[in-house]
Amino acid sequence: MLKAILFDMDGVLFDSMPNHAYAWSHAMTDFGLRMEPEEVYMNEGRTGNGTINILSQRYWGREATDEEIERIYKAKSDIFNSLPEPRPMPGAMELLTQVRAQGLKRVIVTGSATHALLDRLNAAYPDIFSSDLMVTGFDVRHGKPHPEPYLMGLSQAHISADEAIVVENAPLGVQAARAAGIFTIAVNTGPLKDEVLKEAGAHLVLPSMQYLADHYEEVCREFPNR
Ligand code: CA
Repeated sequence: MLKAILFDMDGVLFDSMPNHAYAWSHAMTDFGLRMEPEEVYMNEGRTGNGTINILSQRYWGREATDEEIERIYKAKSDIFNSLPEPRPMPGAMELLTQVRAQGLKRVIVTGSATHALLDRLNAAYPDIFSSDLMVTGFDVRHGKPHPEPYLMGLSQAHISADEAIVVENAPLGVQAARAAGIFTIAVNTGPLKDEVLKEAGAHLVLPSMQYLADHYEEVCREFPNR
């Protein structure tokens, strides 16, 4: 029986990925590391450390030092914060309203480590989320694609994997959700091909949050049959 929906945040609840892609690629370039926007989307969900080390291994042949990681991550955050505030994803509030009306728990599972996260969520989505059903980058040792973030989300909601659905937009996020054994819907809100999300293991790949909101009842009917 379905008891909760676990939501990723960036690229699912906020249309924030274009800003992240811009900020990462420009910050990396400033440090002599080349990161195309598409690579940002492919690595979406990884921790900042993990992302920086992929590039430092490639270009410097070694892990970045803690100081380098701190400087690059700060540069990325400064650029990101200078950009216009990302807007809520179209369709998301409609979907969340249906989920709440069903009496299902709403759980946030994000790699983001930002202190004002709950405030931002409450401003965009009033009366939907609570701090006790929220896994952030501060809580986990392993970022996506490791299953830890989603396993922690299940644990917070006191449910098992077969009682939840995950809504993700990124390949590594889909991998994390599947590794946790959860039915996974990918909403393809970015530039990657649907095949990338299917290959990552998504049970369903849908074109947008609006589409999921419009077809939510059908999707729920499919859930127990998987
Ligand atoms: Ca995401």
